[in-house]
Amino acid sequence: DADQGRLETQADPQRLAEVHCHLQQRREIRQRQQAAAQQGARTRDGQLIEVAANVASAEEAAQALAQGADGIGLLRSEFLFIDRPTAPDEAEQRNAYQAVLDAMAERPVIIRTIDVGGDKQLDYLPLPAEANPVLGLRGIRLGQVRPELLDQQLRALLQVSPQRRCRIMLPMVTEVDELIAIRQRLDRLAAELGGTTRAELGVMIEVPAAALLAERLAEHADFFSIGTNDLSQYTLAMDRDHAGLAARVDALHPALLRLIELTCQGAAKHGRWVGVCGALASDPLATPVLVGLGVAELSVSAPQIGEIKALVRQLDASACRRFSQGLLGLASAGAVRQACRDFAAQSHAQPAAPMALQQ
Ligand code: PEP
Ligand code: MG
Repeated sequence: DADQGRLETQADPQRLAEVHCHLQQRREIRQRQQAAAQQGARTRDGQLIEVAANVASAEEAAQALAQGADGIGLLRSEFLFIDRPTAPDEAEQRNAYQAVLDAMAERPVIIRTIDVGGDKQLDYLPLPAEANPVLGLRGIRLGQVRPELLDQQLRALLQVSPQRRCRIMLPMVTEVDELIAIRQRLDRLAAELGGTTRAELGVMIEVPAAALLAERLAEHADFFSIGTNDLSQYTLAMDRDHAGLAARVDALHPALLRLIELTCQGAAKHGRWVGVCGALASDPLATPVLVGLGVAELSVSAPQIGEIKALVRQLDASACRRFSQGLLGLASAGAVRQACRDFAAQSHAQPAAPMALQQ
């Protein structure tokens, strides 16, 4: 039972029959959710929540569209750079990004600039060994020491069309000057290329400093997307890949919820929207919390799209706001999870709910 993290080794026939029955119910629920997945997801009180997908290639984008993605909320562009002896040139990059836009019909695509360095090394880009790679030259910090690499990627991104559907997102931003510098570079490159419109520029909020500075960043960013995987790691000081700490690296920790709230408040002051592209967006237990804190877009793994959309349709955004405010005062991730389970059970009990709530 992956939902509960349980492995039963001695299931008797009666238990097996129960599990088969449960699986059958889940399949039926899933089919119903899938049938409605191509439609947009609004809360009962009318708030539109975009449910986008995280993908790593044009093929995955096409699959996500078929599963109902309202857009791509995170294309990890590393797929183009890793496991090869030489770097992709500008034309290869442009073609690869264009293929993702083409796969998504009229829907928007957020492409994150390269996030290697740290523990992901490239053969053709030797970097000095670091004692703490996840605190080292990763994300846009790499673009600061190797500006030609980032410029090449930005030029490729500025050549895809239509630019209005392409959104560029910067990983590992920690201060406003970094954003301003890249924004200026992007403007300069766009002018050189002679385009009339250019892609929007957004910031990943995945370092506590960025969440705390959200209001200032929002002056210069077109949108935010919260990377809860790294935001958990850096807020809780727990390696996200540490097997022994895995159960405790929980993005529903109240400290993270406070950072998410700050991010949404900072963005709202400047009329920017906030998405979540970390794994928390795919956790059905977290959907009411994120909607309540003011998140407008959830970028999830493609098979989750139908389920998350179904869940959004059951929610009342103002009830979610009240609920999520109450969570900010709790003392642990465990307490937040329990409150979320109780909230889900209550929603499940409401007769108007058209579909069963998972978890
Ligand atoms: C994140 O950090 O939450 C994120 C989405 O980026 P990645 O998992 O690629 O670091
Ligand atoms: Mg990250």
